[in-house]
Amino acid sequence: MAMNTEDILRQAGLKRTPGRVALVELLLEARSPLTLQEITARLSGVKLNETSIYRSLDAFIKAGIVHRLETGERIWRFALCACSNQGHCHPHFICEACGKAECLNEIIIPHFREPRPGYVVEKQELYFKGLCARCAAPAGR
Ligand SMILES: [Zn+2]
Ligand SMILES: [Zn+2]
Repeated sequence: MAMNTEDILRQAGLKRTPGRVALVELLLEARSPLTLQEITARLSGVKLNETSIYRSLDAFIKAGIVHRLETGERIWRFALCACSNQGHCHPHFICEACGKAECLNEIIIPHFREPRPGYVVEKQELYFKGLCARCAAPAGR
């Protein structure tokens, strides 16, 4: 993603606050989706509590710049996304051995707006579950 923090917030129509800037920067740098706990821990230097982080994430999701994925029972992870349909223009991979989650940005899934006449799709999510390359590799080789 060749966008910077300022562009992202401006395009989303969100005001720049130090907290939002720090949050977008963190998500830009992150190579995989982060849990709220990971985000809170990494932003401990910035004066932001979990509630305001959560509120900012919520605003980002509504603005379409962040998507949320469920990577386990009540475990949510957040990632920046350039696509408008809640970030689910791409599938996600979840490793069932180490719990790692990744955005598979290179795979584009078509957006099914009307799978059957009269039906309206509001959200589409595609998850691949299995083993990541590290967990799938035979041990000791
Ligand atoms: Zn793994
Ligand atoms: Zn994603």
